[in-house]
Amino acid sequence: RVVVLGSLNVDLVAHVERHPRPGETVLADDAVQRFAGGKGGNQAVAAAAARAEVVMVAAVGDDEGGAAYRARLERLGVDVSAVAVAPAATGQAWIVVDDEGENSIVVVAGANGHVTADLPPLGEGDVLLVQLEVPVPVVARAARAAHARGARVVVNAAPYAALPHDVAALADPVVVNEHEAMQLADSDVVARSLLVTFGAAGCSWDGERFDAAPVGADEVVDTTGAGDAFCGALAAALADGADRAEAVRRAAAAGAAAVRHHGAQPDPEL
Ligand code: ADP
Repeated sequence: RVVVLGSLNVDLVAHVERHPRPGETVLADDAVQRFAGGKGGNQAVAAAAARAEVVMVAAVGDDEGGAAYRARLERLGVDVSAVAVAPAATGQAWIVVDDEGENSIVVVAGANGHVTADLPPLGEGDVLLVQLEVPVPVVARAARAAHARGARVVVNAAPYAALPHDVAALADPVVVNEHEAMQLADSDVVARSLLVTFGAAGCSWDGERFDAAPVGADEVVDTTGAGDAFCGALAAALADGADRAEAVRRAAAAGAAAVRHHGAQPDPEL
């Protein structure tokens, strides 16, 4: 099975004609939309969609958004028994999108800052999948514990932050996109196994290139969440015993599917 430790955010989206300048007020042109987001939740949903048995380790607040998100995950087949209720509001992303499709985002971590490294039982054959929207020391502790128990650890180093050296060395693989790969290359952190995704140009895993699944230019609706779908499906495939080529093929198919719909998860309304 796949244990996903990471963030759960309620994404609040407002559309504006143009972004406000500092000190300025603009009116949104419609009601606020509320979506399920956060890299942890996005990846857990993607792993469940790939038919893995998924346990989510996360924290939400004692509020309506948190309850709605837990209920959504349960409905999608994700085990939420390790989603704690923390003394802080459920994480939020305030997203403003202008007429050009350009967005600006403010993330309020809230309950995500309270995630602990208490993992459910896991061992050989299982995969721990983590990202860096929750505190890095917690991610590191969970990664070490899972590795010590024989589980495979997949680290999506996004948003980019410096990984402790031992975590970069035990991850199999560290997954980054092109921007994060540049930041990683500028650091003194060395990943034992590195998988870099290049959008429509596919990916490379320890130097071996793999193609993306073809998507027609007119089919690309919203590239948000392609990386999350890729990581979730990759972890599911690895837990299923797939080899590299097969795991990447399934991950690329999920990434390609994600760019064909709006939002970071399919039908993401909360
Ligand atoms: P991120 O969303 O983190 O920036 P990428 O854009 O590199 O990550 O996308 C991750 C993966 O999703 C790619 O390796 C590819 O398999 C798939 N993908 C992303 N964009 C496209 C696209 N336009 N066409 C086909 N596949 C895509």
